[in-house]
Amino acid sequence: AKRQGCGSLLIHTCQMEEAMRRRTQIEQALRRAVSAGEIEPFFQPIVDLRTGEPIGFECLARWTDPDFGSVPPSVFIPIAEERGLIELLTQLLLEKACIAARDWPRRMFLSFNLSPTQLVDPETTRLVLSIIVATRFDPRRLEIEITETGVMSDPACAKQIVSQFRDVGIHISLDDFGTGQSSLGRLRDFHFDKLKIDRSFVSVVLEDRPSEHIVKAILALCDGLDIDVIAEGIESREQAEKLVELGCQGGQGYYFGTPADAASTVALLQRLSRR
Ligand code: C2E
Ligand code: CA
Ligand code: CA
Ligand code: CA
Repeated sequence: AKRQGCGSLLIHTCQMEEAMRRRTQIEQALRRAVSAGEIEPFFQPIVDLRTGEPIGFECLARWTDPDFGSVPPSVFIPIAEERGLIELLTQLLLEKACIAARDWPRRMFLSFNLSPTQLVDPETTRLVLSIIVATRFDPRRLEIEITETGVMSDPACAKQIVSQFRDVGIHISLDDFGTGQSSLGRLRDFHFDKLKIDRSFVSVVLEDRPSEHIVKAILALCDGLDIDVIAEGIESREQAEKLVELGCQGGQGYYFGTPADAASTVALLQRLSRR
């Protein structure tokens, strides 16, 4: 039994080493791809739930490596954060996204994710503002998505960054609401323009009563605080209808559209405008 135990420990250690080796390989490939500007913005529609029409798009980072193939952001964003690549990645990606969004109708906003690590870095404001200036993108059409985790580690710093964004007309959206260390005090202190209800509530809203009640409560709260609400991860017509019934005005999810590259997004908007 003892030998077997040691054996499995050995196997375990091997697997860990293998995982670390792979991570280092991915990191090297990512470093190259980021520097070469190969991280591409994809765009997923955010819709008015009553009409199903897009009101804006969320930028989602995409990376296809020649060796590793398509690597999901849930893998490469944490590596970028950890290895000091997130600033350059953000800079080049936001630049591409703003340039792409200039071709959209003016009423369409661009929503962009910032990493938690960027909310404790005072340089973040300068980075975002310089891109807005360089691309001549209207800041009132830009929305920055942040998470509760991002706000938590240094609320004072996060608050300062957020207020500098707001000063130039950028909107602030609280992402993944309900999953992190949710605090109602935060809703009071940060004056979010928008809140995104996490997919974990939306995906079960039809069958799980507690989730339905939580969604209802979030909607009531946001109505009083004058915060717009977007339900994330809507995958069916039934879910969309339920959310409308509960009084939710905005939605996002595969049912309305999957993330697509800049050219496909423009083509979609052109088809819509011709209807
Ligand atoms: P997120 O910000 O919560 O983005 C929503 C994720 O849900 C996206 O995954 C999107 O493709 C996926 N999604 C949208 N609709 C549905 C649906 O109906 N069903 C399901 N199952 N999923 C749906 P994605 O693109 O893989 O991104 C994962 C996460 O990676 C994002 O979660 C965000 O936290 C992070 N991320 C992506 N792009 C960036 C970026 O440019 N910067 C930073 N800092 N983080 C990013
Ligand atoms: Ca997001
Ligand atoms: Ca989210
Ligand atoms: Ca209201």
